Amino acid sequence: MSKAAFDPGTFCVEGVRELKPYEPGKPISELQRELGTSDIVKLASNENPFGPSPRALEAMRAELGNVALYPDGNAFALKQALASYHGIEANRITVGTGSDHILELIGRVFLGPGRSAVMSRYAFLVYSIVTRAAGAQLRVADAYEASHAEQPYGHDVEALLAEADDTTRVVFVANPNNPTGTWLKRVELADFLARVSPDTIVVVDEAYYDYVAPYERDYPDTRALLEQYSNLIVLRTFSKAYGLAGVRVGYALASTAVTDYLNRVRLAFNPNSLGQAAAVAALEDRAHIRHTVEVNRRELKRVGQTLRAMGLETIPSVCNFVTADVRRSGRDVFQEMLGKGVIVRPLDGYGLPTHLRLSIGLPEQNDRLIHVLRDVLGS
Ligand SMILES: *Cc1c(COP(=O)(O)O)cnc(C)c1O
Repeated sequence: MSKAAFDPGTFCVEGVRELKPYEPGKPISELQRELGTSDIVKLASNENPFGPSPRALEAMRAELGNVALYPDGNAFALKQALASYHGIEANRITVGTGSDHILELIGRVFLGPGRSAVMSRYAFLVYSIVTRAAGAQLRVADAYEASHAEQPYGHDVEALLAEADDTTRVVFVANPNNPTGTWLKRVELADFLARVSPDTIVVVDEAYYDYVAPYERDYPDTRALLEQYSNLIVLRTFSKAYGLAGVRVGYALASTAVTDYLNRVRLAFNPNSLGQAAAVAALEDRAHIRHTVEVNRRELKRVGQTLRAMGLETIPSVCNFVTADVRRSGRDVFQEMLGKGVIVRPLDGYGLPTHLRLSIGLPEQNDRLIHVLRDVLGS
């Protein structure tokens, strides 16, 4: 008699049962296999179309000879480079395999059954995954209405505060937010930090920092607020403007005490040695970041204007993507665009079934995107 098959749905931990995996941008190689063509443009994951600094590539090549050895588990060189770049002590920096990894560490340390985390509707979905995987309750605060004058679908500080109670251990704030591209101003963030319970961790995710800070005078210097708020964690990543999404490096700035706890659950050898070396070199190449964000701003403006000229509403964005309402099933439009070799991101998983998120690429890639979108929409 054979034994009954093990049923993971019965025996997995509570929070995991209802989870859906994060839907990443479709990889180019997958569409290549499906279409049998290599003429594909991916504007689906907010990657840097210029790639990383050549210095980062060089640093990885130099590091290849060492891959038989475990990486420096304390990431000494990377933490020193970040410490000097940010003017902060190295023992206030936690490095990980992408800021996704750090989000997971935050969930492990501060969330669990009987606790809750708060995020805004339409905020980055990884927050909900790490919260529920930790067995904590997720509370979703209403975002601003679609008709809001400045920040449609953006984070509403009052709503975030109203959702938090004495079970709330973490509030996630994406600034700016993916997939809306909206952001909180200095005064709004300061107001929020002053009013939220000091017993609640506030995670300010600044994945798109470099795209915003040079252009928006009211964008907060969150790093400076760390001196005042020991419950604050600032997240940054090398995946976006630094063009290193493939090697997975992100980090957190926080108090020494919070940093100590995050590092208790960090897997010792994250990030790997190639990522550590690449990040150190990439940080030094300020000209590459400047060029990246300048071209992005120009193209962001041009793509936005073109979409609006096509009669589509866009959410005002300060990032390297723009989210547009195509007024049809976004997933259908996404599918039809795939058939024409352009990968974008449908947002039904975010509760935005008629929106598409379009990453900003090189001018010619953006032209192709617009051309294909026009074709599919017949406009
Ligand atoms: C892309 C992104 C991240 C993180 O990416 P990693 O590659 O894991 O560093 C984090 N937060 C937001 C809002 C993002 O868009």
